[in-house]
Formats: sequence, C-alpha cells, structure tokens
Amino acid sequence: MKLAVFGNPIEHSLSPSIHTLFAQQTGVQIEYNKILTPVNAFVETAQDFIAQGGKGFNITVPFKVDAFNLATKHSINAQTAGAVNTIKVDGNTLIGENTDGIGLLNDLTKNLGIDLQNKIVLILGAGGATRGILLPLLQQRPAQVMIANRTASKAAQLAKDFESYGETCGFGLEKIKDDPVDIIINATSASLEKQMPNITAGVANNAICYDLMYGKQTPFMDWAQNNNASMVVDGLGMLVEQAASAFEFWTGKQPKTQTVIEAIRALND
Ligand code: NDP
Repeated sequence: MKLAVFGNPIEHSLSPSIHTLFAQQTGVQIEYNKILTPVNAFVETAQDFIAQGGKGFNITVPFKVDAFNLATKHSINAQTAGAVNTIKVDGNTLIGENTDGIGLLNDLTKNLGIDLQNKIVLILGAGGATRGILLPLLQQRPAQVMIANRTASKAAQLAKDFESYGETCGFGLEKIKDDPVDIIINATSASLEKQMPNITAGVANNAICYDLMYGKQTPFMDWAQNNNASMVVDGLGMLVEQAASAFEFWTGKQPKTQTVIEAIRALND
C-alpha cells in the first residue's frame, strides 16, 4: 500500500519510522514516504501522489486546512476540528479524518491510565491542535474544559464553538488562577520556541501536566516539575497513537502501540 506524509518542513518527521514498525507488526506491506510539499502546491502534490497509486496520506504543518478542503467527505472529528491530518483514497472519494484528538485521548486513557470523567481540564492555546482535541476530550465527560490563550478572544470563540458538547469556557492566560485543576494540556506552540506561556505557578500544584510537543524536555515540562505537578508527560505517545489510528483507518489493522512508543523514544533520544 502506497502511503506518505505531506508537510513543510518534513525532514524530521517520525511518521515513516512509526508506520514501518506498525507494518512489520501487522504483516501489511506498505511503502511510506516523506513528501516535502511546496507551500503553494499542496493540491497538485497530493493529486500527483494519488495518480501514482497513493492510497492514503498524513498531512502535517502547514497543510491541515488545505487537506480539509481537498477531502470530499469528512468524519465528525475532521468536521469539528476544521482540519484533516489523514486522508484515505477510496475510488474517487477522498475521506478526511483527524486522528490528533483520538491520539491524545488514547495516550491519556490507555497508556497513562487517566480517567477524564468529572475532571477539570485546562488547555493552554487555542490553535489548530486545541480545535482537534476538544471533541474527543469533551466526549469523556470532564466536569469542565477551560481554554486559556494568549489572544483571549480566540479562546472565548473556541469555547463557544464547542459549548454544545460539554462544559467549556475560554479566557486569556493572565486570568488563570491558583485554583486546583486536574489536568493541564499545553497545546501552545511556545515549546517550539523554547518558551513557557506566562501563567501563575500555583495552578500546576498536583496537576497532571501534558505537553503536546514531544521528544525534548520542554520549558513547560520544567515548569511543571518545578511547581509540584503530579505527572509530567510529553506528546510522543500522542504522536504514535494518532499514527495508529491513521494506520487502522487505511488498513483495517489495529497496531499495538506500547513497543512502538518505546522504540521511537529510543530513536529520538
Ligand atoms: P497553532 O499555530 O495553530 O497555534 C499556536 C497556539 O500557541 C496559539 O494559541 C498561540 O497563541 C499559542 N502561542 C504561540 N506562542 C506562544 C507563546 N510564546 N506564549 C503563549 N502562547 C503562545 O499551532 P498548533 O495548534 O497546530 O500546534 C500547537 C502545538 O501542538 C505544537 O507544538 C505542535 O507541535 C503540537 N502538536 C503535537 C501533536 C502530537 O501528535 N504530539 C499533534 C498536533 C500538534 P495566539 O493565538 O495568541 O497566537
């Protein structure tokens, strides 16, 4: 099966290694390539790949909205996220899926044993990743999901967009109080710039702190450790879990993820 990931940049993508391990484990024959895609030529590059027999592809920064527009049919996760990270080619139909949210959820619940029901969740950031994780998170029936963002209006808008799925609210980062929360998810891209959002330290006390960024000890993880978090985790498990969901979507085979997470962590250290 001919598969690929489209992005720009794409050189450091771990997706080929992850999918190759899934393929070995499940006995499915795949060819999975990284395709460096010019920023203004996503559609042409994807169409070329399909014309050459491509059956499925992942999409990463900055093309997830372009992929949403290219897809001719959308899953509920893709629809609510307004972004697509996985496309399956089914004859003339391009089915768009978003596996980021389910990837996070599987890492939290299956791998880390965290039950989200009745919990208070604080998400930092209101960009594409937050939009992708909100529906699967709210489906676990937490007591409340608070969204705090540098640009307060974006957090308020997201909270409003998802209010029919559960208890949500949105505000600026400076409004975060020292009141206890159960889980803090860093979905800002601040870690990419080696920065930590400027928020009060007391909120980390006894909270599970999860950074969507993976592979490095991030400033958010340092902050959490220094402020008495109960658990500090990076997003590598989410990366492997979102890939597992994509692999199953394409092949119908559900790979086991634990050994793959360990192998990818060793590769990336
Ligand atoms: P976007 O560019 O869509 O959004 C970035 C968000 O970060 C915005 O809310 C922005 O605030 C905020 N932000 C950026 N810099 C700072 C800063 N210095 N201080 C405070 N807030 C800041 O990015 P995405 O949502 O697509 O991605 C977010 C992160 O999630 C990335 O690190 C990405 O790598 C990671 N990710 C990980 C995945 C995984 O599988 N583990 C999957 C998907 C994403 P504002 O609105 O004010 O600009």
